Amino acid sequence: MKKRLGIIGGGQLGMMITEAAKNLSNEISEIIVLDPTENCPAAQAGAKQIVGDFKDEDAIVKLAEQSDIITYEIESGNTDVLSKVKAEIEPSPSTLGIIQDKLLQKTFLLENELPISQFYKITSLDDLRKKINELGLPVLLKSRRDAYDGRGNYKISSLEEIEKAYQYFDGKSLMVEKFVDFKMEVSVIAVRNTKGEIAVYPLVENIHEDNILKMTVAPARVSDDVINDAGEIAKKTMDVLKGAGVFGIEMFIDQNDRILINEIAPRVHNSGHHTLQSCKTSQFEQHLRAILGLELGSTDLVHKTVMCNILGPDGFEGKYKPVQLEKDGVYLKMYGKDISKPQRKLGHFNVVDQSDSKDVSVLLEMADEIKNSILIKSLD
Ligand code: ATP
Ligand code: MG
Repeated sequence: MKKRLGIIGGGQLGMMITEAAKNLSNEISEIIVLDPTENCPAAQAGAKQIVGDFKDEDAIVKLAEQSDIITYEIESGNTDVLSKVKAEIEPSPSTLGIIQDKLLQKTFLLENELPISQFYKITSLDDLRKKINELGLPVLLKSRRDAYDGRGNYKISSLEEIEKAYQYFDGKSLMVEKFVDFKMEVSVIAVRNTKGEIAVYPLVENIHEDNILKMTVAPARVSDDVINDAGEIAKKTMDVLKGAGVFGIEMFIDQNDRILINEIAPRVHNSGHHTLQSCKTSQFEQHLRAILGLELGSTDLVHKTVMCNILGPDGFEGKYKPVQLEKDGVYLKMYGKDISKPQRKLGHFNVVDQSDSKDVSVLLEMADEIKNSILIKSLD
């Protein structure tokens, strides 16, 4: 029987899930999205929208009444409400609850013997001083909840900074973590379906600027051993986490080629956007296959690809001229956001090596050139 799909969050991830859902019309009869912004990107892609906050109990109940299965594009959903509603929720609210709190998440990974940087819970300024004494500097002080784009992190490099860092968080629950001297940030897009089948996409390399993902290089420029290690760690992570769906597992590779997990996103992930063109099954279709209990699609990388985010420029907020990009092997995806804001994700493009003749460094150069040619300019 066909299912009605509910999505919490209708930004770009919800939009691309909606597009994939429309292609699975044999399985999905209707798509309903909950998002506070009227005519959100997912609604523009054809989902019916309930306008409301992600944490609004009434709105979530309304979504559940109209859906057979609910998934989400954001990890800040209200797990208490979600665990009470009648619709099936994937990934499961209990998994969401672990991941939402960085301290619970790291504790869970530690208990399951997955590799992570050393960390502690922090209860007071004094406590922070003690823990830093043990860990040594630098460390990252992190807000346990509701962080994104690195905004919940404070790097402490000297003893003088400790108090300022602690005050910065203004009473929020905190944890501290030893700073990893990494040589590369990478991620694995991993998936499990409701029958327990697990698959992973090949390791990709993530290049950040100001804590925001700028580019993803698929595959990562590391040895096959490192690629295999990362895949195994990702599979083990999926094995211990409950629930179905696509997960983005962010990792560091340290100076000794050791892999440490940084954090897990219980949802489709920005570093998986390359799969729209580089793989037979995109992460969005894969996510739906997983939560609907269908057989998983192939995760093989068919073409080397570089994904580049298109971000709102600094110093400008407002309506902007449409972005145009026509070039062989380059795929532009704009998210239909009306207003540009500094560092806001407005779209992305994939540079795909369709002839299988180019080195990723060439793709990266092309991506940089294209990125510099895209100007987000005021409409008037
Ligand atoms: P996101 O950017 O994924 O929304 P977030 O705000 O939840 O993330 P994290 O992913 O924890 O934050 O951290 C953001 C960035 O900070 C990481 O991509 C990494 O560059 C850096 N970082 C986080 N933890 C560490 C660490 N222990 N050592 C070194 N760098 C770290
Ligand atoms: Mg992160």
